[in-house]
Amino acid sequence: MGSISFKIEKKMEGLGRAGVLTTPHGTIQTPAFVTVGTKATVKALTPEMVRDLGAQVVLANTYHLYLEPGDEIVRDAGGFGKFMNWSGPTMTDSGGFQVFSLGVAFGSKMGKLSKVGDVVVGEEIDAEDKAGKLAKIDEDGVTFKSYKDGSEHRFTPERSMEIQHNLGADIIFAFDECTSPAAPYEYQKEAMDRTHRWAKRSLDAHNLLGSPGLPRKQALFGVVQGGRHRDLREESARTLGAMDFDGYGIGGSFDKDDMDAAVGWVNAILPEDKPRHLLGIGEPVDLFGAVENGCDLFDCVAPTRTGRNGAVHTHDGRVNLLNARFVRDFTPIDPECDCYTCKNYTRAYLAHLFRSDEMLAATLASIHNLRFLVRLVNQMREAILGGTFETLKTNFLTRYYKK
Ligand SMILES: [Zn+2]
Repeated sequence: MGSISFKIEKKMEGLGRAGVLTTPHGTIQTPAFVTVGTKATVKALTPEMVRDLGAQVVLANTYHLYLEPGDEIVRDAGGFGKFMNWSGPTMTDSGGFQVFSLGVAFGSKMGKLSKVGDVVVGEEIDAEDKAGKLAKIDEDGVTFKSYKDGSEHRFTPERSMEIQHNLGADIIFAFDECTSPAAPYEYQKEAMDRTHRWAKRSLDAHNLLGSPGLPRKQALFGVVQGGRHRDLREESARTLGAMDFDGYGIGGSFDKDDMDAAVGWVNAILPEDKPRHLLGIGEPVDLFGAVENGCDLFDCVAPTRTGRNGAVHTHDGRVNLLNARFVRDFTPIDPECDCYTCKNYTRAYLAHLFRSDEMLAATLASIHNLRFLVRLVNQMREAILGGTFETLKTNFLTRYYKK
């Protein structure tokens, strides 16, 4: 077994660590920010641009690729990495998050959850309109309607594994139920227990789909759930930690304020020698909290999605390039950024592109935002290795959030 290996290079006081994750398509220096390529494309960027800005790994969404173009086409193309001409490490999520967030989880404040392809951005959706209409859960799996055309589909743990084997990523995730933060404790417990049963079924299906006795080609991560409740999170970490997963995702819903603590409860229990991926975060303050609390990987569509709307990170906080003050600002987005956009273009030029709806606006802003976060997480890694994490955190956050 074991298509990946993970080596911890340095531990911080507490839970944080820097390591190296080796996959069949290359190594990932952790902690690392994972770039989201929802439909086997990082929107507005070629894979060469993605590589050149320092991204080490691309994550695609199972739900979206299953709906279009279909996982069998991706399989026949040689897997999603080959299909999109990305030769580095790849991941797919389980499809659970989209099924639930586009279905029953509609109507809740999604909080940190903002990883829904390009459909919902953690914004509030009217519960009366959508709740329960797009997805129906039973013990065996979930029946849901496509957000595109209303056609009916069904995911089970076995089906998710089959689809993810067709998509062919280096790292795949067990099928899980992602609850709304607003769901009551009883429901969180019920959903978590079901996720544990689904985790076991995912693992069994994954092993059957692989060739018994031969090295696994794909690594499978279990997904810890349990909402914001300490006892549930700890139970989930213990239960899944005892199963033979190659690594772990931490999924679902916490109130933003509880996130660091909840991640810490989970990571104190999960096997230390396996990688941990916190699903769906991309705010600088959350990244610092997650790294400090023992997470190795994070993914989020926010840098490209918000970038396409003109919102860009700077060391002095986020700004929107559509703001009138940038029309005659002939300085880079962030003079301290080393990206292609900041080296070659001005805020005034970007403002012009956005105002005239030019496609290049999305490309240049996405390059900058992705580079900003990739580099920030790289800096966290270097700070762990050099023993200066606290200094980096204080300096960065003080300036970024103007505290
Ligand atoms: Zn830049």
